[in-house]
Amino acid sequence: MPAEPLLQRARTKIVATVGPACRGRAKLAELIQAGVDVFRINMAHGEREEHIQAVADIRQASRNVDRPVGILVDLAGPKIRLGALVQDPMPCEEGAEFRFIRGETSFSPFDLVSTYPTLVDELDVGDRVLLADGVVGMRVVKKVADAAICRVDIAGEIRSRKGINLPGVKLSTPAMTEADRDNALWAAQAEVDFVSLSFVRDPEDIAGLQALLQDAGSRAMVIAKIEKPEALERLDEIVYAADGVMVARGDLGVEIDVAETPIVQKRIIACCTKFQKPVIVATQMLESMTESKRPTRAEASDVANAILDGADACMLSGETAVGAYPRETVEMMNRILLKTERLLQDAPANAPPMAAVSGVHPITSAVIYGAGRIAAQLFASMVVIITRSGATARVKAKQRDFIPTLAVSDSETTLRQMTLFWGITPLHGAPTNNPPELRRFIDEWGLADGSLRLGDRVVFVTGSDLVERAHNVVVVHEVENVKKT
Ligand code: PEP
Repeated sequence: MPAEPLLQRARTKIVATVGPACRGRAKLAELIQAGVDVFRINMAHGEREEHIQAVADIRQASRNVDRPVGILVDLAGPKIRLGALVQDPMPCEEGAEFRFIRGETSFSPFDLVSTYPTLVDELDVGDRVLLADGVVGMRVVKKVADAAICRVDIAGEIRSRKGINLPGVKLSTPAMTEADRDNALWAAQAEVDFVSLSFVRDPEDIAGLQALLQDAGSRAMVIAKIEKPEALERLDEIVYAADGVMVARGDLGVEIDVAETPIVQKRIIACCTKFQKPVIVATQMLESMTESKRPTRAEASDVANAILDGADACMLSGETAVGAYPRETVEMMNRILLKTERLLQDAPANAPPMAAVSGVHPITSAVIYGAGRIAAQLFASMVVIITRSGATARVKAKQRDFIPTLAVSDSETTLRQMTLFWGITPLHGAPTNNPPELRRFIDEWGLADGSLRLGDRVVFVTGSDLVERAHNVVVVHEVENVKKT
């Protein structure tokens, strides 16, 4: 049993990236206790063996702590990287000229090769080339038969294998590389809960991954990482198609003007609110805690502002993967979330949009909104959602009311996927098919957890046989002394 009442944890969810700093069941369990809801496995790093071990360890840690925990497999997508440099590191001085050449090997420090075989063909004079997360900037000044000649306009240092971003250049590369396909098939077989795709450009990229996962028998939710200007041009369609979204600010801040990222973050989150999709804000949230026990003031504000923008989850990357203080970072994030959420407490609940939300029956949307209002009117202590797919809980999350909400399901996958939904606490082991048993189970659980007291009201939301595929029943119940019944 957790030390604190489960329902008193932050409503906003925490996604933490796994890595050497949090390897092993004991450390993972510690992070779950500190507030992690979903672990991210970044496929850009590590070998298959390590990923298999990470999945096994997360599942075991989740069982040990007795709390559903989600796993997100993050596909690297068509990330272009520099090949081996002849001189490593290589200073790039302003005005210096470098040549991108064909092939995999360079013999001159000023000749650069990449992991993208057709790069030379696809670059045009005037194109922008950013290296090492934008630390070095170049522009293509000339094309010759086998090279694109670039002049440095932002000076800095590059190293072998550093990333290349080409903002605005329409690349012909497919959305998923061979390695992505292979990793997605493995993720399906490993029964992970979320798969994210990097460098999404259009809704077809999402549909391709969804089809691949479904064909492989997976119910994993597909998360669209928004980090390309092309994705911003088709944002509505991408968000509508995806099961969730990540504001991937690392590459986004290189692909677009970094000065624009705060506004773009707000735009992406607003779009996710419109389509009622969970949205994760990622990268550099508490970056300085990779090496320090305390965050900067700016980082604390960044986390707070993400919640106020409407983010469902905040993500930690290097902080938990390779940082010196993973547990302290999660605790700090949880504290900032709890303090900030107080500001939202008195805000009126968001009514669901009138337009149909993908995957959710309009009756369900209206009924779940009504349940929140009934709960508020009756000063109910809790809403309990009985859900098969999790869609009802997804809509409830977007209402942003503060009534503690438990979600129960007969599907373990659904329980783990609901770990990403704001304000929803998935609870394992509930007898969902037997209403009197379920009521007793919730009373008993709530009294033991400290979330309920005798006489408290609980609002149940469920379906009935009267209307297919819709949640249309609201039942209000007062907590009884379960030991005597
Ligand atoms: C990002 O770019 O912000 C991100 C989360 O993706 P990655 O860590 O794969 O660069």
